[in-house]
Amino acid sequence: NAQFACKQAKASGRAEVYEQSQASAARRRFSIETELRRALDSDQLDLAYQPLIDLRSGEVSGFEALARWVHPDRGEISPNEFIPVAEESGLILSLGRWAMHRAAASLAQWDEQAGHKLPISVAVNLSAIQVARDDVAAVVDDALRAANIGGERLSLELTESCIVQDPGRATRVFDALKSLDTTLAMDDFGTGYSSLAYLQRLPIDVLKIDRSFVSALMVDPDSVAIVRAVLSLAEALSMKTTAEGIETRELAATLAALGCDQGQGFFYARPLKADAALDYWRSRRRGVEAVAPRR
Ligand code: C2E
Ligand code: MG
Ligand code: MG
Ligand code: MG
Repeated sequence: NAQFACKQAKASGRAEVYEQSQASAARRRFSIETELRRALDSDQLDLAYQPLIDLRSGEVSGFEALARWVHPDRGEISPNEFIPVAEESGLILSLGRWAMHRAAASLAQWDEQAGHKLPISVAVNLSAIQVARDDVAAVVDDALRAANIGGERLSLELTESCIVQDPGRATRVFDALKSLDTTLAMDDFGTGYSSLAYLQRLPIDVLKIDRSFVSALMVDPDSVAIVRAVLSLAEALSMKTTAEGIETRELAATLAALGCDQGQGFFYARPLKADAALDYWRSRRRGVEAVAPRR
């Protein structure tokens, strides 16, 4: 009957559209992989630096380095798209090495431009693929030496997936990274599947509360409970806390009142070019001095 035929046509039409979109997604993925390889060799990649703010003093305590890719034809491509492709293709190993060297070099350059050693650190994201390799600590050590900066000025952002895949290896790698004096931060905390036992066993210094909990904070009472729980867990384990995705003054005030140590988000600043990051540090410093009581 006509109605049935019509339904079937619609269904197979949908299937076709679905197949086409699958095929074009696969094509895009494939070309992104090829082009990312080229981008790595041809300077199309850059790092942007987003300030991390000490919620008590209001000062900049560091910057998170975030990969940026402006493709000559496609325009800006999000790391949420190209990092997974880099991970699946193994390109993340050279991308990760590049990011580590570039971030350390930026910190050294800020010091040089300021004329003294700035009291800030730089944070670099590490993929689980990098952590699954025993040489990641050597890569970090190389970057620190090349830029001549101390490990205490580098923070490494790791995700729970690093632990889940191979906890034994994660323990060795985390210990090796820690022996370089770096700070270890658990990124997107609360979204993964790691057990609290590992959290206690591994040398983790900071929990970064995922943006999803932070942005829900003003509207959803459950997320207040979750944030409070993470803050007291961190305190019990002697870890510091950073809240990601602070977009409003209210959120900044609420998180400070709850006792969160650090904040990061569009309310303070978007990820910035290296020069703008140094300017931001300077202006924030002046601002803090201006409001601080005179002695
Ligand atoms: P992430 O490490 O959790 O970084 C924080 C992300 O949240 C960044 O997205 C940042 O721009 C965004 N963000 C910060 N504040 C706000 C806010 O107030 N509102 C909103 N809506 N977003 C905010 P981005 O730069 O797009 O990076 C996405 C993810 O890609 C990163 O998440 C990280 O997992 C990954 N990534 C970026 N660069 C690298 C890299 O060099 N290596 C590795 N392995 N991963 C990277
Ligand atoms: Mg991060
Ligand atoms: Mg994060
Ligand atoms: Mg994230």
